[in-house]
Amino acid sequence: MKIQAIIPAAGSGVRLKSDVPKPFIELNGKPMIVHTLSIFERCQHVASVVLVVPQDHMAEFEKLVGTHKLHKVIRIVAGGDTRQVSVYNGLQVVDHDTDIVLVHDGARPLAEATLIDRILSQAGNEQALVIGVPLKPTVKRIDPEAMLVKETIARHNLWEIQTPQIFRKEILLKAHEANVAKEATDDAMLVEKMGVKVRIIEGSYDNIKVTTPEDVALAEFYLNRKKA
Ligand code: C5P
Repeated sequence: MKIQAIIPAAGSGVRLKSDVPKPFIELNGKPMIVHTLSIFERCQHVASVVLVVPQDHMAEFEKLVGTHKLHKVIRIVAGGDTRQVSVYNGLQVVDHDTDIVLVHDGARPLAEATLIDRILSQAGNEQALVIGVPLKPTVKRIDPEAMLVKETIARHNLWEIQTPQIFRKEILLKAHEANVAKEATDDAMLVEKMGVKVRIIEGSYDNIKVTTPEDVALAEFYLNRKKA
């Protein structure tokens, strides 16, 4: 069974308010995307990686992959205006003989190679599989104009969904092709719409997505803690 990873890293990173594109932000002296790609260098079950990057930064990513000897990155392709389009562009260059595609955000440098390998060893029995954690905060729907609370959503059985997300290749391709909205914030959402069962496995709260400036310090803290 052949497994390939797609790493979407083509976001603009506006919420991070940084001068450099988000994947190049340094965490403990190394670009974030190098931390993320290194996870897959250590994953036994992932054969190779397709990296999706902003169109106007392709050369910098190629250089980075060479400098840091990220041997599993076999293709670098340009992303699109939304995450969904970026993943779709990656799907177009996945190998013909790939059975399973794993999608992982470039902005999640803290995923665990051992957890990913463990999940992948069970992946053969599933159509779609995601990791997540039970929601900790209380969530309310609000009226943003009046800034008034409309309702509280019962937290029971609500989970925050992360990446990696793992799919049979044909299912993910079909799900992307069937969806024209292009605004899906994860891939499971597209597969769910087709009525495919999506299995959830409990992950870890430290698998954060580096999105806003305070996440940078937090990611560095967690990276250091892993080393200790
Ligand atoms: O925007 P969001 O936080 O959901 O991004 C999650 C991941 O998707 C990030 O790694 C980001 O670089 C990527 N992305 C992308 N192309 C876009 C938008 C986001 O590859 N147009």
